[in-house]
Amino acid sequence: MTEPVRINCACLLHRRKWTGEPEVDDIVKQVISRRWTIVRNDRPACSFTVGQWHTFTSPEFVICGLPRPESHDALRAAVIAMGHDLPALDEVDTELTSLKVKTVKVHGSWHGSPPLRVARAFYDGRLPEYRQLMWAEGAAGFPGDEGFDERLVERQPNLAVPRPDHPECAWTTPP
Ligand SMILES: [Zn+2]
Repeated sequence: MTEPVRINCACLLHRRKWTGEPEVDDIVKQVISRRWTIVRNDRPACSFTVGQWHTFTSPEFVICGLPRPESHDALRAAVIAMGHDLPALDEVDTELTSLKVKTVKVHGSWHGSPPLRVARAFYDGRLPEYRQLMWAEGAAGFPGDEGFDERLVERQPNLAVPRPDHPECAWTTPP
């Protein structure tokens, strides 16, 4: 394992700690062996990276509302693109995957949300920067776009919007 850059990372690995919680300790093992990993959450559906910050001091990514294979393909593509400073923040990318994707910075008010719990546990309660890969709802476009059907936020939230200002949906209501 390459020695990670030791700046500002309070993760379990840097603190050489185990939690005794299998789900969290398993993430630690995966980050040790593969440097970063992808965690899946089924209700509400989202997948996110853990270990990008720990290993590369790069932002982590999250994608919501898609099945596991599409989610994981998009996350892997985003991580590879980070090597070229892509996907660019707040820009629409049609090259990243077969989806039209816009990358936004997750507002800090979402960092305490239940789907990200294990990432929080890994980073000792304080998440590094997370970026959401928002995918376009066909012709409806992206959450937050003018004319976007707000009912579609049940499929994916817009995590760039502060949580108190976001329409109620599966992500604002704890399970
Ligand atoms: Zn770390």
